[in-house]
Amino acid sequence: MTKEYNIRKATGQCSACRKCLEPGTELTATVTEDGQELLRQDFCDECWSQASGGEDKDVLCVWRTRVPQPAEKKKLFIDDELLVNLFERLGGDDRDSRINFRYVLALALMRKKLLVYDRMDTDDAGRDIWTMHLKRQEAKHRVIDPKLTVDQIAEVIANLGEIMEGEF
Ligand SMILES: [Zn+2]
Repeated sequence: MTKEYNIRKATGQCSACRKCLEPGTELTATVTEDGQELLRQDFCDECWSQASGGEDKDVLCVWRTRVPQPAEKKKLFIDDELLVNLFERLGGDDRDSRINFRYVLALALMRKKLLVYDRMDTDDAGRDIWTMHLKRQEAKHRVIDPKLTVDQIAEVIANLGEIMEGEF
């Protein structure tokens, strides 16, 4: 039932002008949909100021980051705000890959105590649906439990790490 989640990694180049982004360079990163894939793209400031990438409906999220120094490579840093943003953007998307991704995001946000579990119901298709809310927010979020195995969850987490930090 689950589909492989293909994510193309960051390349260490500006996605528009192909300029090499040296360690320490500030950049704007986006995650967009591209068919079956989620695509991470990095833009140098010059290109980003000329683009309107953030307005694109296929852009799932946009964030500012910087190219890590080689010694920092192993240190995975994922911004909470970014996780919440992705979680919200993926709501209502019923494709298997997105459901899996969002479920794992929900687990991560619960661990960080940013997302609170309210109750579970079963929908017409027999799926378990969690009702959740973000800390200090009223809005209810519906999260489908795709019944992933531990291995599948680990794989989605690895992909999440790749998309956020890229490999330079
Ligand atoms: Zn550029």
